[in-house]
Amino acid sequence: MEKIMPNRLDRGFYMYQDEFEAKALEVLRSGWYILGNEVKNFENEFASYVGAKHCVGLASGLDALWIAFRILGIGTGDEVIVQGNTYIASVMGITMNGATPVFVEPDEYFNIDASKIEEKITGKTKAVLVVHLYGQASNMGPIVDLCKKHNLRLVEDCAQAHGAKFNGQQIGTFGDIGCFSFYPSKNLGAFGDAGAITTNDDKIAEDTRVFRNYGSEKRYYNKVVGANSRLDEIQAGFLRVRLSHLDELAREKEQICERYLNELHNDKIELPRIREGATHIWHQFVIKSEYRDELMKYLDDNGIGTIIHYPIPPHLSEAYQYLGLKEGSLPITEKYAKSVLSIPLYNGMTKEEQDYVIEMINKF
Ligand SMILES: *Cc1c(COP(=O)(O)O)cnc(C)c1O
Repeated sequence: MEKIMPNRLDRGFYMYQDEFEAKALEVLRSGWYILGNEVKNFENEFASYVGAKHCVGLASGLDALWIAFRILGIGTGDEVIVQGNTYIASVMGITMNGATPVFVEPDEYFNIDASKIEEKITGKTKAVLVVHLYGQASNMGPIVDLCKKHNLRLVEDCAQAHGAKFNGQQIGTFGDIGCFSFYPSKNLGAFGDAGAITTNDDKIAEDTRVFRNYGSEKRYYNKVVGANSRLDEIQAGFLRVRLSHLDELAREKEQICERYLNELHNDKIELPRIREGATHIWHQFVIKSEYRDELMKYLDDNGIGTIIHYPIPPHLSEAYQYLGLKEGSLPITEKYAKSVLSIPLYNGMTKEEQDYVIEMINKF
């Protein structure tokens, strides 16, 4: 068998090859490449999928995050609460505006520990950024209550959790703004960079639309100093194709993860768990092991690639040394960084590939 990779983007393309190719030709032949009908239709379709009033397409997930905080007026002197164990883009979305991230430890589901948020609120706290990490919805009940109680903005980093729900409500609709990435490896992926925000607030949607296009509502009349962060027509077209199949794609991943949950048996590993009331759309299947590094090497030697999400938590990265947070300041976050491992998971994963991954992990 050829080596099993942690992810196979080619498989996701070939599943709907004809539709993707037809869409590419349609857009190329249309003569309209930026902010046209594909973007408009995708925004409407995705807003309706998420159950939000508005969706505004942007150039990437990081852009969605920093533009969200910019539109909310959060910047220098302000603090934003975020979990310690996230992809560094979550944190950059905060610091690109000059605001300071205040880290909270994760719970056993890898999401922010809601019971540890309140102790971090100061007079400077302006917002909470929840990250629905690996595809599982965060504990939104207490988080929404806390934000109301302390009059804080709530922003959701939904880059890994398109379609996940908490108590039946889709993520991306709980707060002021939901930030999505459509990077190719995400559950709803484009064939290049792409992102979006969702919101129920008319003004936030309008301000974001203006901001993404050089701050102009009407061509050459610029209201604010904005950015160029537009979603391309061709990517929006590809996203419409993928979105139309997202439920079946999610079901396929769920079936693979059900096998993993039922058939992986090894005392040296801990399987992921799902919070009551939350759904998981399995962006990653993340196991924990004290023997993580040995396991990773053993699997690699046996033709199975795995990946660590993420080996260095943001507060220990070189980029954030200026925050002055030393090793030991977030013990749970740091422990996760040393023990988590994402095993192969992708649409189009064959039964033989699944069998082999299960067999080899069980033999470790
Ligand atoms: C992928 C990702 C982002 C950034 O998205 P890009 O489109 O790559 O800029 C932000 N947050 C999380 C949690 C992500 O996984």
